[in-house]
Amino acid sequence: MSLRVRLTLWFTAILAVALILFGVLVYALLTRELYADVDASVENKAHDAALSVRYENERLFIPTRIRVPESQFRSPTIYTEILDTNGQAVWRSDTLQGSDLPLEPGTLQRAHDGEPVLETVVQAGQALRLYTAPILVSGRLIGYVQVGRNLADIDVALQQLRVWLLVSIVIALVAAGGGGWLLARAALRPIDQISQAARAIGLAQRLDRRLPTPKITDEIGRLAATFNEMLDRLEAAFLAQQRFVADASHELRTPLTTIQGNVEFLRRDPDMPLSERIEALDDVADEANRMARLVNGLLALARADAGRHLERSPVELRPLIESCFHQAQALARPTNITVELVLNRLEPGARVLADADRLSELFMILLDNAIKYNRPDGLVRLIALTEGRSHRVIVSDTGCGIAPEHLPHIFERFYRSPSSRSEDGTGLGLAIARWISNEHHAKMTVESVPDVGSTFTVALPALQPTPLIPVS
Ligand code: ADP
Repeated sequence: MSLRVRLTLWFTAILAVALILFGVLVYALLTRELYADVDASVENKAHDAALSVRYENERLFIPTRIRVPESQFRSPTIYTEILDTNGQAVWRSDTLQGSDLPLEPGTLQRAHDGEPVLETVVQAGQALRLYTAPILVSGRLIGYVQVGRNLADIDVALQQLRVWLLVSIVIALVAAGGGGWLLARAALRPIDQISQAARAIGLAQRLDRRLPTPKITDEIGRLAATFNEMLDRLEAAFLAQQRFVADASHELRTPLTTIQGNVEFLRRDPDMPLSERIEALDDVADEANRMARLVNGLLALARADAGRHLERSPVELRPLIESCFHQAQALARPTNITVELVLNRLEPGARVLADADRLSELFMILLDNAIKYNRPDGLVRLIALTEGRSHRVIVSDTGCGIAPEHLPHIFERFYRSPSSRSEDGTGLGLAIARWISNEHHAKMTVESVPDVGSTFTVALPALQPTPLIPVS
């Protein structure tokens, strides 16, 4: 069942319950009021009639002119009768036209006991409200007065009311249901449009398309805006993915072509001199290594993209930095580059929450770059220091630096500034470094002056030393 039908049905059902309750209440209150009026009028009339009766010489004396307002007796629905103590009619109103009012068994007895009786009796299919009361003179019973009121007009009025209530409730429900249906359609039309547009985008696989956003910022407007934001993110992720795959294939193709070329070359000439053969094999080995590095880097980034998080535990920073320093020294050994370690401002016992292997990898990426992009007799400084609530690890070099226009891009995957293309590299190092840094909730920044050098800083949140609990 569609939302529109459900909304309309709910709306109509709630309205129906409300209208029926209202109708029942109006009907019940009106019925009670009408019957209360009838009761009051027959009581009053009986009272007035009783006052007009005189009693002389042990007989009821009925004056020719009764002091009850004539108009009341003229009313065709009012019947009055005066009875003597035996229950014999001694006077009847003209409206009775000679006949008697009905007398239920026991009514006179109850009136005789001093209790006026109010009852509804049905005679010849006519409902009659009947009031019977004793007439007392100086406390002595001299007769009875009976006043009846025909209920036909009230019954007709109530029946008409029932019909009107029913008809008006049905009309109101039909009108409200129709109106609700139109309203629900108008309210839900933008949602229909959004779902059609979303479907069209999905079918056409056009992530660059956007939904029309209504000007009003109501729920529908927000839905369209949220959907468009999601499309923005999807498109960005999709494009990044496409770029990544294209870049990765491109990067892998170069070493593969070199390897294939060399293998072909070795195969073609079996009498090739040994020196040339070794050179070709060295090329193959270099390219295979480069491919291995590339594949490792891609694997790390793919895991990061899949949302894999590092498992961290408390790690002491000084030994980790010292180990990186020794590895960097080994890397720099074939060159004239000096690697320096400065640890004097690092808090003794400084610890961070880290994945030790990955953190070492991050520092090694920075140190490797600092050696790779340095001038031949340059200097690399590895500094660790504590500042406030963080430990900073700084890698600075005296190399070619990075031009300001390239600086915003160096953390992108496969990005290599034009000047560094001659160096061996994959363009994945800093992208991996940034992921490791983010996983450690660290802040990595870079400052660089072309031809002077670059400084990479990683600010790691310090892990507070666990206070020693004194043993008493
Ligand atoms: P790779 O070093 O394998 O090319 P990276 O992601 O580590 O890839 O670095 C990306 C680019 O950033 C490098 O190609 C280089 O242009 C630039 N870069 C990184 N570190 C330095 C540095 N210390 N000095 C100068 N340029 C650097």
